[in-house]
Amino acid sequence: MTQPPGPPHPAAAAQLTVLTGPSGVGKGTLVRELLARHPELWLSVSATTRAPREGEVEGEHYFFLTPERFARQVEEGGFLEWAAFAGNRYGTPRAAVEEMLAAGRPVLLEIEVEGARQVRRSFPAGRQIFVAPPSFAELERRIRGRGTDAEEAIARRLARAREELAAAAEFDAVLVNDDLTAAGRELERLLGLIPKAPAEGG
Ligand code: ADP
Ligand code: 5GP
Repeated sequence: MTQPPGPPHPAAAAQLTVLTGPSGVGKGTLVRELLARHPELWLSVSATTRAPREGEVEGEHYFFLTPERFARQVEEGGFLEWAAFAGNRYGTPRAAVEEMLAAGRPVLLEIEVEGARQVRRSFPAGRQIFVAPPSFAELERRIRGRGTDAEEAIARRLARAREELAAAAEFDAVLVNDDLTAAGRELERLLGLIPKAPAEGG
């Protein structure tokens, strides 16, 4: 059965936070740490047509779909948003997000800029945070240092990153991910979460 299009109740939309920014900036790292400290948050698991990286688990990191399955889900209105990125397609499955919002659970989406724009249109009350690198050179170092992408994929991601960085001012807040601990605290502040005190004696 297809989902009806359109945004859910405005009160629920306020609970939706989009984290966006270029590939390699550290969105995934920031989100992992945030979830470890605030398990009440719910992170949407995206669908993608790209191949799994080493260690990536179906249903945990992504739902890995064939291009045909992805296209069918697009036709059925099964994505809240979707976009092409560096030769693949990525999308946010609609049903789970709507269920979590209806249940009053704060929802996080970690997606690229084009998808964030689509979510802004359908959830204008949601928060949108752009994660920026301290410099382009540092972004390149992080993408390469991650060691997960082939040279061709790195080149595509860097080209896309230049366009994405130019869009930073569209978002509600820009979070510079320089020092990871400081950026994590700033993210908590932006989300209105009470920072958890660091462990004593460390
Ligand atoms: P994204 O999810 O935005 O593509 P990742 O979270 O995979 O980015 O981070 C890319 C690389 O940068 C990883 O190797 C990660 O460990 C590293 N990284 C993330 N944040 C920082 C930071 N503040 N300082 C230095 N390296 C970082
Ligand atoms: P990666 O291949 O590095 O996992 O992801 C590439 C880019 O796609 C990242 O910027 C990531 O945030 C973005 N992305 C992941 N899931 C989604 C999604 O569901 N929708 C959109 N629009 N982008 C996504």
